[in-house]
Amino acid sequence: MNNNLLNSFRRIYRDKKNMQSFSAYYHALCNWVKNNPKKLGSELIHRNRLDILISLDLDKYLVDSDTNELCLEKEENRIGKDFSNLDGLLMVLSNTLWDMVTIRSDACCSRCKYGDLRYIKINDQDGNGKIVLECNECGYAMNLDGSNLEEKIVNYMPATKAEVEGKVAHK
Ligand SMILES: [Zn+2]
Repeated sequence: MNNNLLNSFRRIYRDKKNMQSFSAYYHALCNWVKNNPKKLGSELIHRNRLDILISLDLDKYLVDSDTNELCLEKEENRIGKDFSNLDGLLMVLSNTLWDMVTIRSDACCSRCKYGDLRYIKINDQDGNGKIVLECNECGYAMNLDGSNLEEKIVNYMPATKAEVEGKVAHK
């Protein structure tokens, strides 16, 4: 793996400003992606959904410690140190960002049975938006009641807090 790239990633954790809040940390991770488009490559960026994650308006998406299991003080030891390849680094980076902007459901995955579920908003081929659940483990997306999706997913985003609250209240 490119040493300059890895060193620039490690430097995120040495700047205390980046680790003062989840929002500062989120921005620092996104800026690293935005500053290295050529070295990372569009295919890897897309496959790890970093294209979605770096484009979110953080005012609308949840970035706080109640919704994820991240502890800012432990992040450097957890992900800021050793990576032998870019694939592994980008996967952990993507999971970390995803944890900070998605809302967790208490339900269990109807396919793998043990994965955490997160609320996402999908758009189908007719442009209709819908709030559904996606499994963090197996990647399976399902209706809020666990049933199979009939829709073909054209694109998706994390669901905002307002979208999830509206959905759950009107269920
Ligand atoms: Zn699952």
